[in-house]
Amino acid sequence: MSYVKSLKCRECGAEFPVAPRAICEECFGPLEVTYDYAALRRSFGPDAIAGRARSMWRYRELLPVDGGDILGLEVGCTPLVRADRLARTLGVDELYVKNDAVNFPTLSFKDRVVSVALTKAREFGMTTVGCASTGNLANAVASQGVRHGFETCILVPEDLEAAKILGTTVYGARLVGVRGDYDQVNRLCSQIADRFGWGIVNVNLRPFYGEGSKTVGYEIAEQLGWKLPASLVCCMAGGSLLTKIGKAFDELRLLDIIDDGPTRLYGAQARGCNPIVAAVQDGTGEIRPVKARTIARSLAIGNPADGYYAARAIRESGGWAEDVTDDEIVEGIRLLAGTEGIFAETAGGVTVAAARKLIASGRIERHEPIVLVITGNGLKTTDALAATAPAYPVIEPRLEAFEGVLAATAADRSGSVATGAFPSSGRSAPAAPLSSIRTL
Ligand SMILES: [Zn+2]
Repeated sequence: MSYVKSLKCRECGAEFPVAPRAICEECFGPLEVTYDYAALRRSFGPDAIAGRARSMWRYRELLPVDGGDILGLEVGCTPLVRADRLARTLGVDELYVKNDAVNFPTLSFKDRVVSVALTKAREFGMTTVGCASTGNLANAVASQGVRHGFETCILVPEDLEAAKILGTTVYGARLVGVRGDYDQVNRLCSQIADRFGWGIVNVNLRPFYGEGSKTVGYEIAEQLGWKLPASLVCCMAGGSLLTKIGKAFDELRLLDIIDDGPTRLYGAQARGCNPIVAAVQDGTGEIRPVKARTIARSLAIGNPADGYYAARAIRESGGWAEDVTDDEIVEGIRLLAGTEGIFAETAGGVTVAAARKLIASGRIERHEPIVLVITGNGLKTTDALAATAPAYPVIEPRLEAFEGVLAATAADRSGSVATGAFPSSGRSAPAAPLSSIRTL
């Protein structure tokens, strides 16, 4: 049974029946899925879902599907990692990393939104799906589209990272590179959706697609024992993920599953593409589009579709927004990898680096639980780190040669190991004294 009521305009409140549409016919505002929360309160809660399979679909009553075939049953339920080493480095008491870098099948949170979008495309009888993408969404549509028997057509800016291009074409998906930025690709996809009636997941399936992001919020709450963190830091591209995590937390309160106070939402962007951060910081909430220039290409959306709503959610929650430079993004990636063993893509570097600034400036309270949302895997954006890759010694396969390296690195032990990275001198700093290594 479905608890979906309608598609409702976020601006004028006009309601429409459920169909592949994203824009209000009255005022061109974005449409949002509404649910029958009164009915949900009677039938949905921790007891109802406790025995269900570990997948984002354990929260299916809060997703906009009608009870047909569910596509992507293995997606979601990624780890919430207690990050004590990173917490000590940042000087906070209780820190968690929501790690969608290991989401199935394509190692980003986009697997969640695509799972919902394709389920809906199947309900609507669509046979071709596609997207406009900065990379992760392309990977997810390609993988799940092919697996579930759709024709696929995916459009991307031509300058994406090589791993994201390969991670789309390997599935046999049709990929089209476009000479232009994401905003131009997205406009072209709107025309394609109108002309061909295809299920473009972030265009005409957008209201449904966005709901998949809510499962990040439900999972965090459940993994904390049905509690909410005091603060949550999330990177922003179009702004939908942060907005939907906020919606998930609001719904859990609305359904009396949780009575914690509102979580303060903190948005993070790259300095080279920061329209939502600017809107929060100048207090107007007004999005002024920018031309994106950053190594965080997955966040390089100069005219964010949900930017206004993300800015509003941040301010209403009592949170804040921060941007970081490309150098700080690389430091953020290394800090997370070197403390917690989690290799995030550039967007994750944005989240960690922004969190560090927000904590240092006192915007985030040090003594309350904090969650950092990591949205994609670092193996997809190795290009961003290539120029700063640390050197390492190469030796002959002889014990004396290895001992020579140990002796040299022992002399170099004063080198920086704060992030677990090798010093750029090319020598590694040993974690243990030479004597203890010899006894192994
Ligand atoms: Zn409207």
